Amino acid sequence: MKFDKIVLATHNQGKVQEIGQMLKPFNIQVVSAADLNLPDVEETGTTFEENARLKADELCKISGLPCLADDSGLCVNALNGRPGVYSARYAPDRDFDKGMDKLLKEIKDSGSNDRSAYFACVMAFAVPGEDTKVFEGRVNGVITESKEGKGGFGYDPIFKPNGYDQTFGDLPKEEKNKISHRGNACKKFVAYLESL
Ligand code: IMP
Repeated sequence: MKFDKIVLATHNQGKVQEIGQMLKPFNIQVVSAADLNLPDVEETGTTFEENARLKADELCKISGLPCLADDSGLCVNALNGRPGVYSARYAPDRDFDKGMDKLLKEIKDSGSNDRSAYFACVMAFAVPGEDTKVFEGRVNGVITESKEGKGGFGYDPIFKPNGYDQTFGDLPKEEKNKISHRGNACKKFVAYLESL
């Protein structure tokens, strides 16, 4: 493996845990932006890819280390793909309990019976002096009528992946990681590392 230490360009502990766990078998030391006191990069882009690139490139420049950034969100078909890239900001006061209530109400108010949705994730990997690479992952599912489960983070308790009886809030972490948007993007990232 060409890289033994990678910075995760996020302050989101949920993401740090998931990505750290997924990279565990590969003997890569994963440190977070918070561990290195690196700043939070403002997400000024309008797409997942733009924001992932912004975060990876900026923190790679500041730290001089290989940097992996993840931009992700929940896209709800009844809401024409919202909150999407704005998923973190959609939650009032960044409180996801309130964010989930807001989302359930908005779907109800839309009058649509379509509960289909997907989580999307784009990972960008920036290495000093090299072109930044991107890896995309997605998981399709439905938005439940109410919150189910206390595990995970963000919108996990209202997202049930297709083919499963439990939400991401109820599924064990390892199960979620196997099928999630972040898991799928991470598999591509690892395949890239292994190809080097
Ligand atoms: P960002 O990628 O930092 O812009 O944040 C994306 C937001 O989307 C997170 O704060 C969560 O609210 C939501 N999100 C992304 N991935 C997941 C997930 O795996 N489970 C639940 N919510 C997620």
